[in-house]
Amino acid sequence: MEINPAVTFKHDRKLMHAKRPKVLIVGAGLGGLTLAAILQKSDIPYEIFERAPQVKPLGSAMTLNATVAPLLYQLGIAEEFNAMSKVVPSIQVASEDRQVQFAITGGFDGAKERYGADTRIISRPVLYDLFMRQVPTEHLHLSKKVLTTKQGGNGILIRCSDGTEYEGDILVGADGAHSAIRQNMYAQLKKDKKLPSSDDVPLPFSIVCLVGQTRPLTPEEIPFLAEEKCQFIRIVGDDKPYAVQFLDSETSKENDYFRNSEWGPEAAGAMCDKVRDFPVITGGDNRLTIGDLIDWTPKEYISKVMLEEKVFKTWHSCRTVLLGDACHKLNPSGGSGAVNAMHDAIVLANYINGLPLHPVVEEIEQAFAAYKADRIEWVERAFATSQMAQSMVAKGFKATMMRLVLKNMPEFMRRRAEQMFTYRPQVSFLPQVKIEALIKPVAQPSLKVKTPVEQNDGGVVKAV
Ligand SMILES: Cc1cc2nc3c(=O)[nH]c(=O)nc-3n(C[C@H](O)[C@H](O)[C@H](O)COP(=O)(O)OP(=O)(O)OC[C@H]3O[C@@H](n4cnc5c(N)ncnc54)[C@H](O)[C@@H]3O)c2cc1C
Repeated sequence: MEINPAVTFKHDRKLMHAKRPKVLIVGAGLGGLTLAAILQKSDIPYEIFERAPQVKPLGSAMTLNATVAPLLYQLGIAEEFNAMSKVVPSIQVASEDRQVQFAITGGFDGAKERYGADTRIISRPVLYDLFMRQVPTEHLHLSKKVLTTKQGGNGILIRCSDGTEYEGDILVGADGAHSAIRQNMYAQLKKDKKLPSSDDVPLPFSIVCLVGQTRPLTPEEIPFLAEEKCQFIRIVGDDKPYAVQFLDSETSKENDYFRNSEWGPEAAGAMCDKVRDFPVITGGDNRLTIGDLIDWTPKEYISKVMLEEKVFKTWHSCRTVLLGDACHKLNPSGGSGAVNAMHDAIVLANYINGLPLHPVVEEIEQAFAAYKADRIEWVERAFATSQMAQSMVAKGFKATMMRLVLKNMPEFMRRRAEQMFTYRPQVSFLPQVKIEALIKPVAQPSLKVKTPVEQNDGGVVKAV
């Protein structure tokens, strides 16, 4: 296929076979896999490309809240997810002497009654595996690192590092914070003088984080494990290094060399040594430290992660669109990066599904613009909330004040902060899920988008 032929023919749908646009998804993280799992339930053709030869069991735990529960039910995986995860009743904030200072319960306690589902915590590899199983292997192409893209009136072409090429109608960059798809798209926009200056700067970062997953532990080792609910405790350090470490300009430079790898095991060893003596709370008399957790963790499961934060302005151009960390990298303290990547996938799938058969570039661009318009307000809210959550474990006067406010938060502020739980998007082309909840979900514009149907007069298509 020639992507941008010199002469283009009139786009006459009457002369064409009915054809849904083919979607190429780059990145099999939680965002890309969610989109693939949703498209798998439609008749939209799709392929997903992942640079890794296999999905690595890196990372630690992951919280998912009530806002993704409708999707899990629509995909038919809610019960399995609930069986593999634990309810989180609150986030407790403790001091270095292992004393719990206060607990944040908004969004946790009573979430099932208020928003229809509990906030739950799950092992990241287990969650990946659940989503991977929704995508048939013939659609998933591993060891496919996408290097370049080319797009135009006729379609989109991606080239991988092994020399292979793939064609489609829509390209979704779900390839994480350092997205190659975003970089390709921005390079072209910059050339065309269409890239906003705020998107033409490196991703800012201020935090480096050590993550890992121990071998399975017993209640004798960690008494909390015997409890039905998950204990989520953040310990605010006095003056020692901590798993969340704030960088000054010198330490930023120190960490700069590996900023291109999201999950870098290389530098984890040095950081492990720094944080060994930091206390952890176990629910019993055994006074463990992070050093004990490190010793219980296979080295290859420990990694050091750069935590950038940014909401990009440009989410799409021509046939290319971004989702998840590729267009908004949120601080993980808010526990909503993956949740928002999943929300993106739902809304984007709804607009892609609403495209007429044989869509032209203008129609695709309109759908992408509608997708961003639906999502941006909620992404910006999540960005602000995650920055506030980050202050919980920060140092200094501002952070101390923030903890004081969080500790004594009046009811009306708590309810306002909980507004994000009213956003509970659903896939428009799957049976709608009705979940009992005191607080109703807000209206979802993309739910109104209808599936196009083929008419009998030779392929003319209109949405019904
Ligand atoms: C320590 C930590 C804790 C977190 N906890 C939570 C939490 O509790 N709850 C929550 O909601 N979020 C949490 N997050 C955020 C969440 O992990 C991310 O927001 C989410 O995983 C983003 O998903 P994604 O699919 O957009 O990107 P990613 O997960 O980064 O996936 C991108 C994928 O693209 C692949 N890729 C990259 N480049 C290419 C290429 N050129 N070609 C092909 N493939 C490519 C990568 O290998 C990767 O598999 C946390 C993050 C961190 C760091």
